[in-house]
Amino acid sequence: MQCFLFCVKVKKTKGAAATRREGTLLMRVGMGYDVHRLEQNRKLVLCGVEIPYELGLLGHSDADVAVHAVMDALLGAAALGDIGKHFPDTDSAYEGISSMLLLQKVGDLLEAHQYVIDNLDVTIIAQRPKLLPYMPQMVKNVAEALKIEEDQVNIKATTEEGLGFTGSGEGIAAHAVCLLTSLMELPQAEADLFGRNCAVCKGCERCVADE
Ligand SMILES: [Zn+2]
Repeated sequence: MQCFLFCVKVKKTKGAAATRREGTLLMRVGMGYDVHRLEQNRKLVLCGVEIPYELGLLGHSDADVAVHAVMDALLGAAALGDIGKHFPDTDSAYEGISSMLLLQKVGDLLEAHQYVIDNLDVTIIAQRPKLLPYMPQMVKNVAEALKIEEDQVNIKATTEEGLGFTGSGEGIAAHAVCLLTSLMELPQAEADLFGRNCAVCKGCERCVADE
């Protein structure tokens, strides 16, 4: 069997420094990772759900560690940096803000850059409390914020068997992986099916080619 990698065409984009592999940028994967410390007198908010617990996560915003990992995965896949770049913790505008609002902004940013989300997979690492009862609401919140279906979002929780900072209950960590499709790289007819909106485009290669 012939490996398709040998068939990948490499073209130099006019005026651009980078080479783009033609037809290979349809799907883009991203990963995100975040950690927050557990402290007293803070709320525990995970994927927009306030979970009853004696401790909560410390941070500039509501410290929703799971949503922070999701946003970094999405921004990473789109090569748009990270949440620190878009929502710096030195900006008082983000003090105590619900991370779900920031997630909506990331969703809007992806839309403006003509990306659609294929799926998201999230792992929350916490020794306590038990998160299973809150999972359905977490999935619902994330799907709603990103305007995608619930079956495109998977959220799971695990412990680290008492080991490390999550095991000792000092903090909670979260990992997220996502897959995006770039509508810019899709043939016009297929992109139209996804409702690509060139009205919001800041000027891409396709716009230039269509002129
Ligand atoms: Zn964070």
